[in-house]
Amino acid sequence: MQSWSATRDALAPLLEKYAQVDNGADGARYPFWALKHDDLWILGRAEDLILTSRKRRPTPESLDQVNPVGGLRENDYARLRSQPETAASTAASLILRYFYPLPPDLLKDFGLHELLAGRWADALSPKPGESFKDHDAILRAYGSQKMARIGCLADGILSAFSDEKGPYDDSRIPDTNWIAYVGDGLSGDQEITDGNKLMAEYQIARRPLRFWHKPYQGPFSFESWAVIVQRRLRWGVGKDKKWRREFLWVLAPVPSPERETWSAEALEALDADTGALHDDTGTYRPSDVDPQLQDASESDRDAYRRLAQNAEANANRRGQLKKSSLADRFVRDPSARAAVLRRCKDSCESPRCDGHPKERTTAGKSILQVDHVQDLARGGPDVPWNMIALCPNCHALKTYGVNKEELRCLLAATARQLHTEALL
Ligand SMILES: [Zn+2]
Repeated sequence: MQSWSATRDALAPLLEKYAQVDNGADGARYPFWALKHDDLWILGRAEDLILTSRKRRPTPESLDQVNPVGGLRENDYARLRSQPETAASTAASLILRYFYPLPPDLLKDFGLHELLAGRWADALSPKPGESFKDHDAILRAYGSQKMARIGCLADGILSAFSDEKGPYDDSRIPDTNWIAYVGDGLSGDQEITDGNKLMAEYQIARRPLRFWHKPYQGPFSFESWAVIVQRRLRWGVGKDKKWRREFLWVLAPVPSPERETWSAEALEALDADTGALHDDTGTYRPSDVDPQLQDASESDRDAYRRLAQNAEANANRRGQLKKSSLADRFVRDPSARAAVLRRCKDSCESPRCDGHPKERTTAGKSILQVDHVQDLARGGPDVPWNMIALCPNCHALKTYGVNKEELRCLLAATARQLHTEALL
């Protein structure tokens, strides 16, 4: 327990330096008095204090006169003293939540230098790799209340959960370890509310969040820290099985919340992001990717021409940008993919297909994979003439097969030919 005068003298300069408080001595009244309502802090002789007219806090005069003592509850204090790792993790959470990015002198000024210098981010828990049986087990360990797919753990830091078996179609972006994370909201057009609102705030502030992933039949694990490098709008199918507009948050994994550890790729993508929404829903329609919705008023040729033109225009725009960002290079154009799906008519496009060219999934959908003949990462354009629909067998031959180079040449010629024919 420390007296008001000692607490005030220690806190006042810190409040002025780090919380932009004009009068630190007056500002210290707030935590000294109000934290007891949060059950974090106890106060002796509080009954002797005279409150301000609105009874919000004691008057400065009576605080100085009574000079009561205040401090953490005894068991909390004992725990923080006896368990340095708990103290470090607690302090690190508060730093990330309230003082991010970390001001240079803060650790020293708060007397935390010895405990946390050079390792504050490592002290945070949960730690990457930590896994749990299910979502509820995570909340029991680290969350204070029921939380949806996107929300904050008890330490106030944002978590995004991805369950492979769930209704959302999150995925890795091909050729990268980036994640295309579908926004919050099960049915109907998604809006910037709830989890999406938190994501938008983190995107603007460039704050790191926790990305959790649960593979099919596997445990839920805190896979990685990540930063949001782009927000897109796509067509997707809601839980009610109807098409709707949904957000796609492009996440770049980072090794820790400390900016110094982030890859050049992640930093470049962050710098290029203005926070603006990239709306892809105008360049293709749900009926382009869902054969059941196709209307007879537009011929296959007209639909293919429309989609291919959109894809070419997008590719041109992306190439013409002075500095095309990584997100713009790696995130696939849905109109290009839709064009190829329209062109292939549910059948593998490899002329040497010995696989299952018309196989379907248990959900009754085509099992084809739309692949770039020349990879995007190697500078291949994201346009239908560089893309081909392949069955899993042909896709494996193209990726791993001993004759993959020869097959690539054949597929390149095939894609161009199919493209030309589809436009005739
Ligand atoms: Zn095939």
